[in-house]
Amino acid sequence: MEHEELRQRHLARLPDLMRDHLDRLRWPAERLRLERRDRLRDLLRVAKTSSSWHRERLHGIDPDGFEERDLEAIPPMTKDDLMANWDAVVSDPRLTLDLAERHIAGLTSDAYLLDEFHAVASGGSTGRRGVFVFGWEAWAVAYAGFMRPALWDRMVTPELAERPNTVGLIAADNAAHMTSSLAQTFANPATRVERFPVTQRLERIVAGLNDLQPLVLFGYPSALVMLAVEARAGHLRIAPERVIASSEPLLPHVRAAVEQAFGAPVANMYGTSEAGPMAVGCWRGPGMHLCDDLVIVEPVDRAGRPVPAGTPSDKVYVTAVSNPTLPLLRFELSDQVTLLDQRCPCGSEHRLIADVAGRHEDAFGYPGGAVVHPHVFASVLVREPAVVEYQVRQTPAGAEVLVVGGLADPARTRRALAGELARLGVRSPDVRVHQVDQLRRQATGKVRRYVPLAG
Ligand SMILES: [Zn+2]
Repeated sequence: MEHEELRQRHLARLPDLMRDHLDRLRWPAERLRLERRDRLRDLLRVAKTSSSWHRERLHGIDPDGFEERDLEAIPPMTKDDLMANWDAVVSDPRLTLDLAERHIAGLTSDAYLLDEFHAVASGGSTGRRGVFVFGWEAWAVAYAGFMRPALWDRMVTPELAERPNTVGLIAADNAAHMTSSLAQTFANPATRVERFPVTQRLERIVAGLNDLQPLVLFGYPSALVMLAVEARAGHLRIAPERVIASSEPLLPHVRAAVEQAFGAPVANMYGTSEAGPMAVGCWRGPGMHLCDDLVIVEPVDRAGRPVPAGTPSDKVYVTAVSNPTLPLLRFELSDQVTLLDQRCPCGSEHRLIADVAGRHEDAFGYPGGAVVHPHVFASVLVREPAVVEYQVRQTPAGAEVLVVGGLADPARTRRALAGELARLGVRSPDVRVHQVDQLRRQATGKVRRYVPLAG
């Protein structure tokens, strides 16, 4: 079926779904808890019936009487578990990793897999590659989960409601990335979204935003911070009422710099390719609201023990109760999450977490003023199915790329990367690609994915 026809069907589902999800923002904590419990029971039933990998692991688990606190009885799962057992983990026998990989490798813009699913690939915060698939309803729910706070904000803020909803989106130009494909699936006339690939030259993004005059500025923190510099220098002349940061850790000094440069509040969004929306800010309180009806997030220490509110976790286990196609039960993410023990002035009882800590991805600056965003490398490397993880080190005239796994054609990858750098103004870029057995990890166990030249 044609993409546009499928997309229109998906869009037709949105009004009802959005109404429901706006209501959910106002649900009391107890109702949210019951919703999580009931969807968790549904997910366990699906996993036991339709996922051969989970069936063994869930032996002795009774979905009917299951409570959230019983999750500790289920062993956590990792990205390695998923990638090694993908076909047996998914609950739909039509889906295989091979099929999803071929779909992702062929993406030029948003596309449905088997007229029904969406597949996304992620390097994740550690650079280790994963492939995730969303069912029809789960894909729409992910969009609703990300967008409902903005819709609510617009409904209760007269000065926003009276201006056209124009969004300047600075994101990956990569249909294998969730931010990009969700925005394409649900593009609709009520909101004018102008997309600026983060891999574009900064001057072009600045000129485009000056033309657009967005009401909402939406982008990666690493892009927003560059735009804040452009605004302070007087090159970028826009007056957004709201800023949304997503896809990368938002550090306190970046949040402050962006708020100051644009005189607008910043809401942070924490989404993952694994589970879609995890937490979304509301512009009124600290940090972000957990999507307390869509995901179960367990902040834990290195040994997997729960950490109390106010203490940063070493990692989290996420249970994605709204996407039964890919049952993720206590899926380990290396994000550091801190539950906040306070109520938000907006009145929502979705729990608050602090902005997610982690490394800010630095752009590479080159002689002559060329600036290369890390996503330039990611957009090329994420398409390679055999790449397990990678690291990009800036060199004086280009970059050195270390790849674990394999490349179909290393010379072609090298040329593609050099071409991107040249396009962004790096003169005679020197790119080297090395296949290695493993990457050197930091003390935290994480790999620093992008290493700019010191100084
Ligand atoms: Zn709030």
